[in-house]
Amino acid sequence: METIEKITALRGGEFLVKDQDPMNMFIPEDYTEEQLMVKDMVNDFVDNFIIPQQTQLEKLDIELTKQLLTKAGEFGLLGTAFPEKYGGSMQDFVTNMLLTECFSKAKSFALSQGAHTGIGMLPILYFGNEEQKSKYLPTLIEGKKFAAYCLTEPGSGSDALAAKTKAVLSDDGKHYIINGQKMWITNGGFADVFVVFAKIDGEKFTGFIVERDFGGVTTGAEEQKLGIKGSSTRQVFFENVKVPVENVLGEIGKGHRIAFNILNIGRIKLGAGVLGACKLLSTQTINYANERHQFKQPISNFGAIKYKIAEQAIRTWAVESAVYRASNDIKIMEHQSLEKGEPLSKALLGAAEEYAIECAILKVWGSECLDYVVDEGLQVHGGMGYSEEAPMASAYRDARINRIFEGTSEINRMLSVDRLLKKALKGQIDMMTPAMAVQKELTGMPDMSSPEGKYGRELKMLSNMKKMFLLVAGATVQNFMTELEKEQEILIMLADVMGDIYVAESAMFRAIKLANTKGEAAAEVELNIARVYLDDAMERCSLNARRTVCAWAQGDMLKTLVMGVKRYAKYVPINSMITRRKVGEAFIEKNEYFL
Ligand SMILES: Cc1cc2nc3c(=O)[nH]c(=O)nc-3n(C[C@H](O)[C@H](O)[C@H](O)COP(=O)(O)OP(=O)(O)OC[C@H]3O[C@@H](n4cnc5c(N)ncnc54)[C@H](O)[C@@H]3O)c2cc1C
Repeated sequence: METIEKITALRGGEFLVKDQDPMNMFIPEDYTEEQLMVKDMVNDFVDNFIIPQQTQLEKLDIELTKQLLTKAGEFGLLGTAFPEKYGGSMQDFVTNMLLTECFSKAKSFALSQGAHTGIGMLPILYFGNEEQKSKYLPTLIEGKKFAAYCLTEPGSGSDALAAKTKAVLSDDGKHYIINGQKMWITNGGFADVFVVFAKIDGEKFTGFIVERDFGGVTTGAEEQKLGIKGSSTRQVFFENVKVPVENVLGEIGKGHRIAFNILNIGRIKLGAGVLGACKLLSTQTINYANERHQFKQPISNFGAIKYKIAEQAIRTWAVESAVYRASNDIKIMEHQSLEKGEPLSKALLGAAEEYAIECAILKVWGSECLDYVVDEGLQVHGGMGYSEEAPMASAYRDARINRIFEGTSEINRMLSVDRLLKKALKGQIDMMTPAMAVQKELTGMPDMSSPEGKYGRELKMLSNMKKMFLLVAGATVQNFMTELEKEQEILIMLADVMGDIYVAESAMFRAIKLANTKGEAAAEVELNIARVYLDDAMERCSLNARRTVCAWAQGDMLKTLVMGVKRYAKYVPINSMITRRKVGEAFIEKNEYFL
């Protein structure tokens, strides 16, 4: 509550057009005591119950997975996002993200737990009627029954609405008869309750709650996957399954609302989920680099290794800053909606929808951060990295799925730009005024003055990155208008500029807030991290911005835009080699990821 009163949020996507006071941004160092208690509780649970069984769990021991899920239920860890009346403890959104982060050390078990409490149970909470919620949620929260989510089919993945599974009303009007096939269903091997999407009469895309015991529900063999081998993934077949009409979830023909809204939450959850893995893998990398000697010294002495260790920490810390910034923004908006008297379902889903741009960015940046961390972690382990004896080999395989599910990286990148343009078109975010101000500024003399204030360089860079985006995105939209959606390469470059701005700003604001509160010397590592990330982000942004305009502009227009990009890309760089090295050395000295 204290946090909500102190911290004010921008609306979704507004980070691109408005500057925020860094002191007003929520940072992980603002966690309340209650949030830290939940963190300790989940860490203890994972350390005491999951880690000792990890080898067995990774062999896909479904009975053990079920037992441990039930144990998590006994500890109240399956109901933290659910109201007390169904047996949950209804923690705030930030706490639930923190819980997801802590669970991620549990490898495949984290997926079983996440699919059960997330995509499996949340649709019932947010779209179910009172009867459905009272019937299904308590046993799922207790871990006596388990849930799964069936959207994907062999012929429809990214294009989820092209599903072929059909539902037909029975002659007596009491049941829908469902026929179809779903694919890649997490928890498919043991779930009792399935949230299933089917088209009524082949047209109206609708959600249903289907029990395995209804009859006609069967599953295929376990998929032989690249990684997350302890997570059950199967095809689920529905053959003349009689689903009572009472089990229609939400409105008929509005299944897309369930599917897409739940995905917004799933995406930011994935962003939080990868953080636990990144921190653990980073610690394992540092430990190994300190222990392993070559050329008569620990390999952590070498600049090439320091670079990798530093970069693991820099990316992890930057993504963490952005994940909890967005989580708290969602929490504030949910809280405000509840205060206005809106029902719980509308409040959280509305808030997640408001920040859909940020959720998509975090899904992409989080999953790609983890891939960097695990890839370079494996590299630091040398030959041992390639061995199943070290933790890196399985982690390398496990990490890869994150760029595929909850919407692939490509889909999420394009979605973030699409959402921004739709918001601008609907007048929900004013892009026009700042874009015109940028155009006007470019006709005047360049501002040659040195940035003022302690963090003037950094704040000016962030402001210029936004201007660069407005310049390039504005001109590109004007050129293509509605045809822009066909130019995917351009959309992806614009998405990268947006994501870099959001994550770099979040990291820089967090470092500034920390420096302002605990003193610059005490925040030296964090400031170094944020500055390296920011300078690199500026380089990536200017490259993407230039490539974007080169993709379509010609003649004088091209020259003007390239000059504009150049003007906003101007900055005095730090010595990133030395700064990055200092970051690496700080982590090497502590022998762990310590932030
Ligand atoms: C281990 C695992 C667990 C899963 N768990 C679940 C679950 O519990 N429930 C569930 O419903 N689903 C689940 N999925 C499915 C997952 O969500 C899909 O695999 C994912 O959405 C991608 O769909 P697809 O595999 O059909 O790939 P496709 O959609 O065929 O995509 C293939 C490639 O084409 C690209 N592509 C597709 N469309 C476009 C486009 N318009 N523009 C540009 N590029 C495009 C994609 O980005 C991708 O690179 C799971 C998948 C896996 C592997």
